[in-house]
Amino acid sequence: MKIIAIETRLTRIPFDIGAVPTAFAGMSWTALDTLHVRLLTDTGREGWGEGWGHASCATTRNAVDTLVAPAVVGAAIGEPAERAALSERLFRQLHLHGRSGSVIGALSALDIALWDLAAQCAGLPLYRLLGDAASRADSGGKSRLDSLTCYASLLRYGTPDAVARAAGRALERGYRDIKLHEVDVACVAAARAAMGHDVRLTLDTNCPWSVEEALARCRELAAFNLAWLEEPVWPPEDYAGLARVRREGGIPIAAGENVAGRLAWRALTAAGAVDFAQPSVIKCGGVGAWIDAAQEIGANGAQLVPHCAYFGAGLLATLHLQAAFAPQAAFERLFMDLEARPFGAWLDSSDGRIAVPQAAGLGCSADLAVLDRYALGPPTTIR
Ligand SMILES: [Mg+2]
Repeated sequence: MKIIAIETRLTRIPFDIGAVPTAFAGMSWTALDTLHVRLLTDTGREGWGEGWGHASCATTRNAVDTLVAPAVVGAAIGEPAERAALSERLFRQLHLHGRSGSVIGALSALDIALWDLAAQCAGLPLYRLLGDAASRADSGGKSRLDSLTCYASLLRYGTPDAVARAAGRALERGYRDIKLHEVDVACVAAARAAMGHDVRLTLDTNCPWSVEEALARCRELAAFNLAWLEEPVWPPEDYAGLARVRREGGIPIAAGENVAGRLAWRALTAAGAVDFAQPSVIKCGGVGAWIDAAQEIGANGAQLVPHCAYFGAGLLATLHLQAAFAPQAAFERLFMDLEARPFGAWLDSSDGRIAVPQAAGLGCSADLAVLDRYALGPPTTIR
């Protein structure tokens, strides 16, 4: 089996979060932008991937179109060793462009599509193909798993009233685990008051504070029984600073969505910086790099809780990885209603659970009619 073409498509799909979204993490969130990558082969099989992401999709797409696709069209990928060698070659060939960021996002998309094809060829859902590696990591993964619990990952609402209303809506939808993306303590207080104390609450701040500021905020947040505080420190690679916040702040720490590369994972976890480690499959280099991360995380005693703030093939890949390597963890599901769903009902949660696809590969191909309807410009095909 050979790669004969790589197609990239950008979509912009409006969503509803029950309020006007507030800008955060460098983006204004009114619609979800997604980069879809389709890998076509001479056998007629096709694999789907997704690369980070959101407002920077066009940059990642450019990296696929101009760097990745020309280097892989024509490559043989029929055997596992050929696929592994291709990914390894690309990581080495493109390392001068950086070891994280848009080029790694592009390589993530390629790698996810290669694993989609690998599992299709094996006739297994991806999580069961990964089950052997997961079993060696002592995480289970080989037996059938129909669904995962998930948590509602609320965008930033910015005012206590709006946060409380959103938390109430998440409870009405059946969630018993809610994450906020707020930085004001009053918003956290409002959510906790609306939720009561039986519902798990976590807080993601997206790297806003110095170490001293983070420690001061931890003292203010102590009353709200947070299960974790996510990315409280700028810059995200200040692992020693994060470790100090973890030691002295009194709240468990989560981080990792901005970490790429096995040695970076080792540095993060060996520094004692995190209780919960969050590899992101469309940012870290894809399925293979995610598994490397999981091994480092397990070796250093942190708990694996995958990141997933997207609704393309990356969400499907995360479902499979989590089913194989971290079936007890709650799956991150952004709390939003999309106007259209490129991968259908697999993107939905119900009563705080999300289904794991059982068909071979990722278990679902993108709906081309949805991709066309919400396209940001025409697709690009590199042959
Ligand atoms: Mg986060």
